[in-house]
Amino acid sequence: MNAIQIHNTGGPEVLQLAELPIPVPGPGQVLIRVEAIGVNFIEIYFRKGQYKATMPLVPGSEAAGTVEDLGSGVTGFKPGDLVASVGVLGSYAEYALVPAAQLVKVPDGLTPEQAAAAMLQGMTAHYLAHSTYPLKAGDTALVHAGAGGVGLLLTQMAAKIGARVITTVSTKEKAELSREAGAAETILYGEQDFTAEVKRMTGGKGVDVVYDSVGKTTFENSLNCLRPRGLLALFGGSSGPVPPFDLIQLSSKGSLFITRPTLWHYVATRQELEGRAGDVLNAVKSGELKLRMEHVYPLSDAGRAQADMEGRKTTGKILLEP
Ligand code: NDP
Repeated sequence: MNAIQIHNTGGPEVLQLAELPIPVPGPGQVLIRVEAIGVNFIEIYFRKGQYKATMPLVPGSEAAGTVEDLGSGVTGFKPGDLVASVGVLGSYAEYALVPAAQLVKVPDGLTPEQAAAAMLQGMTAHYLAHSTYPLKAGDTALVHAGAGGVGLLLTQMAAKIGARVITTVSTKEKAELSREAGAAETILYGEQDFTAEVKRMTGGKGVDVVYDSVGKTTFENSLNCLRPRGLLALFGGSSGPVPPFDLIQLSSKGSLFITRPTLWHYVATRQELEGRAGDVLNAVKSGELKLRMEHVYPLSDAGRAQADMEGRKTTGKILLEP
């Protein structure tokens, strides 16, 4: 089968097409024929060596496809089922293994592309809006990178709950997309002081929650945007990791809360995974949640896909097709 393999950490050029044997499912595993692969920032962190992995590595985590074969002990799935998962280690390939415990069936009527586009970023937006800081009508949230994959979905979910959403984006085009997704106000954070803008927009009060996936360049000022006892959900580091932080600042800035959540702890049980995936996929099916899937690359162009994501050239979801 064709797969993308990395032998050493480095730039996008280390993502090389390779010919590898089709893997054989072990106990509890399902072999899927991959039809659509979700590209996520986490794969960039692994490629650069920011997160550690054993080499050589077939990168990837998110995919949708058809069940091809079952390992021993697997129940609930059969060959031919359309399935999706955020636990497909090695999803940058034509075939991949997934633990059955991390697999969900895709509702009828959805395409593999829609499923692969919705799972990881959709469930992330879902846990941030419903569990990390359960938004309610009348809350005000600041969402950084509002036109990104998670950003567009989180904005839609927060606006639907009735929260007022303020987003940051790098360009006027991205601002337009963010407003279409439901942002009440947008800030061009490369040109404007986003703390001053947030303070102005909230009458000096600050926001209830900041969802910050940008990290290094926004972290400090994200704290300055919060109301007393507000919460910063730092869930990514697209601009780089946040440097060490003195906790006393949480006190002086208003008895603030910080959490550094990750999806895996919010889909840790079968019940929670099925609940979140079901909510997200059904919202896509009903049209309530709109996906943006304009960036689709062949598997062999995985390097270009990651470079475009890192280079802030993309909006919404990036997919690879095997
Ligand atoms: P995005 O589509 O949001 O892409 C990243 C965006 O970040 C860019 O488009 C850009 O938007 C913004 N950005 C700001 N500064 C930089 C920079 N220096 N370099 C690159 N991008 C920058 O990606 P995703 O939606 O897939 O993921 C967003 C973040 O969420 C990532 O950091 C990812 O790791 C994290 N994440 C965390 C999860 C968790 O559970 N903790 C799960 C899923 C994702 P703009 O041009 O508008 O500034």
